[in-house]
Amino acid sequence: MLQLAPYAAHPDQTRGRRTQETAPAYRSEYQRDRDRIVHSAAFRRLEYKTQVFVNHEGDMFRTRLTHSIEVAQIARSVARALALNEDLAEAVSLAHDLGHTPFGHAGQDVLNACMREYGGFEHNLQSLRVVDELEERYAEFQGLNLTFETREGILKHCSPGKARELGDLGARFLNKTQPSLEAQLANLADEIAYNNHDVDDGLRAGLITIEQLNEIELFREQYNLVTRSYPALPERRTVHEVIRRMINRQITDLLEASRDRIAGAAPADIESVRTQSSPLIGFGAEMREQGLELKRFLRENLYRHYRVIRMTAKAGRILRALFEAFMEEPGLLPPEPANRLKTAVAPGVLPPATLVRPCTAEQILGMTGRARIITDYIAGMTDRYAIAEYDRVFNPSYLS
Ligand code: MG
Repeated sequence: MLQLAPYAAHPDQTRGRRTQETAPAYRSEYQRDRDRIVHSAAFRRLEYKTQVFVNHEGDMFRTRLTHSIEVAQIARSVARALALNEDLAEAVSLAHDLGHTPFGHAGQDVLNACMREYGGFEHNLQSLRVVDELEERYAEFQGLNLTFETREGILKHCSPGKARELGDLGARFLNKTQPSLEAQLANLADEIAYNNHDVDDGLRAGLITIEQLNEIELFREQYNLVTRSYPALPERRTVHEVIRRMINRQITDLLEASRDRIAGAAPADIESVRTQSSPLIGFGAEMREQGLELKRFLRENLYRHYRVIRMTAKAGRILRALFEAFMEEPGLLPPEPANRLKTAVAPGVLPPATLVRPCTAEQILGMTGRARIITDYIAGMTDRYAIAEYDRVFNPSYLS
């Protein structure tokens, strides 16, 4: 690896893991984090989870897995150019969507509504829960036991109440301080990736048109350049060339504006990055505006397209029905979540002295414990698993 800048995350100065481990021999601490993420079950399931389009709508659309790989690619490019820690940027990028529900945003909203009385559901917090609690792979600890810096990067936002529960990791949301530059970068790489691939997927699905997109400055600028230089280029290839240039423009702007801001603030090390009053990684003012214009466009024309809303409504009904059925009759649950209901102790909750160990989440937290474990089960489902599970639970002609 290239020489790291002094303000990058240096693996030998990590704030460490929740359970102490000996340092890896031939990898850095952040490479180890990345490797654990790649080998996790939640990571593999990203292949069959979607963002906007449901998995069976077509093989050409992005899934959460290909999205996460695109985010990692963008984050690594910028990290290397800014002499930041590429391994950490990659680990955060690959893990950032691990807590996503089936059916993208639709799933998040429905589970949050189902969980209203039981502490809510937030996919970003769930990503942290996956790596801290839900992955069961290692003899020595629960979860993946990742470094503080990777966990800090995964936790992008957090309510004050949750922040207090999370101790060290939540402190920055109460003190209004910043995460590492690598975490800031992964966050913006996420934005660049989804804005651009949603344009691509939206066009391919026929939900938005080039005429509409030409209202957007970021698109129009590149579209005019490409069609002027290559007037005879077939449309599909023109679209790819335009999107390629849009991504390049945004990455270049992000890189240059961030480099200038870092030079201005001249942070001595990662701790002085953390105490800055605002993030140092970011677009220039003009590109920020253009990005917001594109986001608004996608919200109005793609995410609220009636065909997307129909799918969202179907997805919502499936997840809500499953949640309600399992809450009413936990006996419907298959062995794995059923066992967790019997054995798991809710994280951060000490059993009251009056209860004889072992006590379950449900014994301690009542319906809140039950709801959390059912939600973990539903949130972990892929799109196709959720549809099949719905049939197994509700359709009498299906084998269960
Ligand atoms: Mg994402």
